[in-house]
Amino acid sequence: MFSYNDKVAVAVSGGKDSLSLLAILAKIEEVKPKSSIVAVTVDEGIKGYRDEALRIAKKSCEKLKIEHHVISYKELFGLTLDELVERKKRKANSKLTACAYCGVLRRRALNEAALRVGATKIATAHTLDDEVQTVLMNIFRGDLARLAKEKPVTDYVHPRLVQKVKPFCEIPERESALYAYINNIPFQATPCPYASEALRNDMRNMLNSMELKHPGTKFAVSNSIARLQPAIKKTLAKADFGECAQCGEPASSEICKVCEMTREFA
Ligand SMILES: [Zn+2]
Repeated sequence: MFSYNDKVAVAVSGGKDSLSLLAILAKIEEVKPKSSIVAVTVDEGIKGYRDEALRIAKKSCEKLKIEHHVISYKELFGLTLDELVERKKRKANSKLTACAYCGVLRRRALNEAALRVGATKIATAHTLDDEVQTVLMNIFRGDLARLAKEKPVTDYVHPRLVQKVKPFCEIPERESALYAYINNIPFQATPCPYASEALRNDMRNMLNSMELKHPGTKFAVSNSIARLQPAIKKTLAKADFGECAQCGEPASSEICKVCEMTREFA
């Protein structure tokens, strides 16, 4: 996942997983003189939620003596997630959930933050649980493109897209939480007020009950998809990566998803 001289942008939300990851990577980085770490936090603009997370993330970075960089939706896209949700309510024609918008915008914001700090890798704290939930959601939706794309280390597709790695992809969420508790790492425990992705919640519950009855289920799903991915990729037409006609950022269609979404709310 990493090279000895990487500059790693660690995506820190302020939750247990990202703060555990930051602490562990900081420890490893200490003995790698040519590498460095920067923490990046995306401020979506969610009142009463993100402000607390930002405070916790900032404190953690100070304690670990890691530079902390914050990037906001307001600055990048001209509106906060709160404002977007408010406008979405007035325009009833939108079927997408807040999470669907936020997912696309956050990906862009993280990449932009990584470019600004000159990072060569973005590390996110997706755990085994997150990864396996995503696999099943993509199967249920029949989304082969995503099924082929979501990997612990992303493929190189464009010079402006910083490679993403998921060091916790084989770590069960419970273990990452345990690490935070044992090491007395303060973290934000309240969930996002918009977290209403119904399908993901159902997947989480289903996987947890399967894991209880059949220990090893989560690892089995994770291993299955890793073995299937090359075959799925072969069945898909290769997506041509170019630049968005509107913003110039990497895109696989004429207008990128971010411009498509923000245009809706202009
Ligand atoms: Zn665009």
